[in-house]
Amino acid sequence: MAKAVEREHLLEVKNLVKHFPIRQGIIFSKQVGAVKAVDGISFDVEKGETLGLVGESGCGKTTAGRCILRLIEPTSGEVRFDGKNVPSLPKDELRELRKEMQIIFQDPYGSLNPRMTVGDIVGEPLHIHNIAKGAAKEERVREILETVGLSAFHARRFPHEFSGGQRQRIGIARALAVNPRLIICDEPVSALDVSIQAQVINLLQDLQEEFGLTYLFIAHDLSVVKHISDRVAVMYLGKIVELTRKTELYKNPKHPYTQALLSAIPEADPTIKKERILLKGDVPSPINPPSGCRFHTRCPKAMDICKVEDPAFVDTGDGHFVACHLVPAANSSENLA
Ligand code: SF4
Repeated sequence: MAKAVEREHLLEVKNLVKHFPIRQGIIFSKQVGAVKAVDGISFDVEKGETLGLVGESGCGKTTAGRCILRLIEPTSGEVRFDGKNVPSLPKDELRELRKEMQIIFQDPYGSLNPRMTVGDIVGEPLHIHNIAKGAAKEERVREILETVGLSAFHARRFPHEFSGGQRQRIGIARALAVNPRLIICDEPVSALDVSIQAQVINLLQDLQEEFGLTYLFIAHDLSVVKHISDRVAVMYLGKIVELTRKTELYKNPKHPYTQALLSAIPEADPTIKKERILLKGDVPSPINPPSGCRFHTRCPKAMDICKVEDPAFVDTGDGHFVACHLVPAANSSENLA
């Protein structure tokens, strides 16, 4: 309980919404609907913490990550980084803040410019932010490449000369170059072989310890975030449905969606029998999400109330937040959303 008092938030997200308008007509185009990619999510990330953000493809997690960095403009909501509200910052202040908030992309093939050398790719943010030029920049690039497990001579090579795992190291080096405090890792290992995934996750953990980094780690698979996260938030169709400490989530998942996701993870110990919870149907369209609880069309425990009433996201005890009519709040005054 003492930890709650000492918590120092680096990132606070409140009621973040991103709706992409759907327009019809070429000349007098008018809005006929919206893709509700992110629909009012709230969470915080402590300094030095890793928060895993997990959900199926299309649940809005990547859009949320990009809204936090303002790579795309949020429709509404607050994103406070070290107390500053990112969506309302003027461009010059946002540019300054970008040094402190970096991103590692999912695709280590598509995210690196094939016409630039590795030295230029890693050195570009140093140039953009006026951090180092000339020999000082080259020295810093060499230093960062070695920090991420590459060699100084790799600076003269081009991305196509590297394996997927090495390319992701280049992406990490680029993010690290400006000494950020927060890194949004957007599915950084999803495109890599399983044998390489562990190496990249270990590298991210080492860098976190060495540089005191804070991570928002986005993934579609609960098994990937298990090792790196301190807490995990589970997203479904634009909303967070469960958020708690990692150990608690894997031991005592309370939301039926989290329970289904966990049941799909293969068990390494063959003596442990696990019952797989199969979800019916596909994830509904974010253009027209189901009424009430958005999960009711697939939930094996759905009740009548679930079709009409959206469950509140409440603290069920000790910071374990859940949005489900089956799970009562420990104290309704502690609601986050
Ligand atoms: Fe299932 Fe109802 Fe809980 Fe939604 S609120 S997860 S439909 S039981």
